Amino acid sequence: MNDEQLLRYSRQIMLPQIDIEGQERLLSSRVLILGLGGLGCPAAQYLAAAGVGEIVLVDPDTVDTTNLQRQLLYSVDDQGTAKVTAAKARLAAVNDGIEIETVHGCLEGEALFAQVRRATVVLDCTDNFTSRFAINAACVKASVPLVSGAAIRLNGQLTVYDHRQPAAPCYRCLYDEQSNENLSCSESGILGPVVGTIGTMQALEAIKLMTGFGKTLNGHLMIFDAMTMEWQTMGLQADPECPVCGQA
Ligand SMILES: [Zn+2]
Repeated sequence: MNDEQLLRYSRQIMLPQIDIEGQERLLSSRVLILGLGGLGCPAAQYLAAAGVGEIVLVDPDTVDTTNLQRQLLYSVDDQGTAKVTAAKARLAAVNDGIEIETVHGCLEGEALFAQVRRATVVLDCTDNFTSRFAINAACVKASVPLVSGAAIRLNGQLTVYDHRQPAAPCYRCLYDEQSNENLSCSESGILGPVVGTIGTMQALEAIKLMTGFGKTLNGHLMIFDAMTMEWQTMGLQADPECPVCGQA
């Protein structure tokens, strides 16, 4: 690290849990962020500011007026611009010492797997079950940890699927591909600080996975209710019959 980096990251380097070694790990890490909406915006902001060396931003959408209420990387002038392009410009303005790659589109199949395999950590910040199942399967196959967030209305949830750990459950252990209705923010509504809280905590879990300190949410699901300001944590079990991660 050079002097500029030591100064820029000094407030986290002084934490014994990060230290020089942790900062070097962040700088040599590659994070794949899938979805740059209300979850992906704060996650990308914190990870870029923290000095994650390579960040890959993936999103098929352009900035829309209705995004501005909660997706704080974007401004009025960005409307109609690809989210990944607008986000990259904002992130690079905060930290020009990291590499930011963009994919304007959806990653599927082999292209998704190729990106997942190169990542240190994957953040699922998407808003639909089809993407979530595909991302989960690619992370299990590549044995790359996945930080999964979701938020709708006044509720959020967060978990880590760390497939490097023995008996770690995966997303498919919890959710059946047949039985899920898709709830969208455009139909159900969402409050900005609710989704922002979850996205911010996704960045926190990603930093822990990259630097190796603390205990992550692997094997646990945190659920947030903004009505009561209560957090609940549920233990998760791997399903031995799971078609994605099961041994059978
Ligand atoms: Zn599974």
